[in-house]
Amino acid sequence: MTPIDLRSDTVTLPTPEMREAMAQAPVGDDVYGEDPSVNTLQAMAATMLGKEAGLFVPSGTMGNLASILAHCTRGDEIILGNLAHTFLYEAGGIAALGGVHPHTIPNQPDGTLDPEDIRAAIRGDDAHFPPTRLITLENTHNRCGGAPLSVEYTRSIGELAAEHGLILHLDGARIFNAAAALGVSPAELAAPVDSLTFCLSKGLCAPVGSVICGSQEFIRKAHRIRKQLGGGMRQAGILAAAGIVALEKVVPRLAEDHQRARNLASGLAALPGVVLDPGTPQSNMVYLTLGNGITHDAREVAGLLKEKGVLVGVTGKRRFRLVAHYWIDDKAVQQTVAAFEEVLQAQS
Ligand SMILES: *Cc1c(COP(=O)(O)O)cnc(C)c1O
Repeated sequence: MTPIDLRSDTVTLPTPEMREAMAQAPVGDDVYGEDPSVNTLQAMAATMLGKEAGLFVPSGTMGNLASILAHCTRGDEIILGNLAHTFLYEAGGIAALGGVHPHTIPNQPDGTLDPEDIRAAIRGDDAHFPPTRLITLENTHNRCGGAPLSVEYTRSIGELAAEHGLILHLDGARIFNAAAALGVSPAELAAPVDSLTFCLSKGLCAPVGSVICGSQEFIRKAHRIRKQLGGGMRQAGILAAAGIVALEKVVPRLAEDHQRARNLASGLAALPGVVLDPGTPQSNMVYLTLGNGITHDAREVAGLLKEKGVLVGVTGKRRFRLVAHYWIDDKAVQQTVAAFEEVLQAQS
């Protein structure tokens, strides 16, 4: 039996249409700029995000790294949330490879950064201080429940950045989920930022890849850095072909995942022993905690669920993350609720 895998949307397998497109993709040497599929993907992505140009990169981590390195020089400081993916989960690459100094401020529960905290973090012109260069936001915010950041909020931070001569970068790994959750276009969400990264390999089902978008000049710099980082790929159109299908066919259906996440949350909410995060799900992620009556911890409960064919993400001693995605259908949602019910009943 294939397990119901709710650990993440990174586990999504390519769709049959993607495999077909990959097999048929026109390709060339992308380091020479001659891969037609990569060029198509980059142009499509730039158009959808309302930016001048796009750059295909192997991962979201490289997308954020190449973007930040393109904007900053060694010794520059960037302001980002203490729960930002770039701060927590990208192996410290900006510091290790770019000499960029991270200045973290608290993420609010809704994924935002408080403008007053940002203002307080911006350095004055003093030889003791690293120069502040850039602010990073994350949308949707993974560690803050998959919360989408609104157009209005993003715009306000864009204005704050401009006021202080700072660059605004967006880790938009799940920007298409944010757009679907808010009912706005991705270009509206991206308009206030100078650059952004989004992932093709999460809820969009592509096997590999992310795209950076921004101005021509920024993309030219990021292109050289991608090469420095070893991310120059040759017949990468095989991968880009899946990305094109992702943008054309998977983006328009993301609201279905959000609906299934809501169905999953309401099914689980009815079970004793489950405490949902307030407001969950905000997009495709359901966050929950085990109630006091449950003696097992999250790892043990996850082990019991696994025996029933359900895989869940353990994000704390008593916490889980469940992510709805392309391969989670209505039946999988029902089976997941049933598996939780059986496991938790045996517990209390
Ligand atoms: C997954 C993710 C990334 C990095 O993407 P990889 O392709 O796994 O390197 C960056 N930011 C956020 C918010 C993510 O969820």
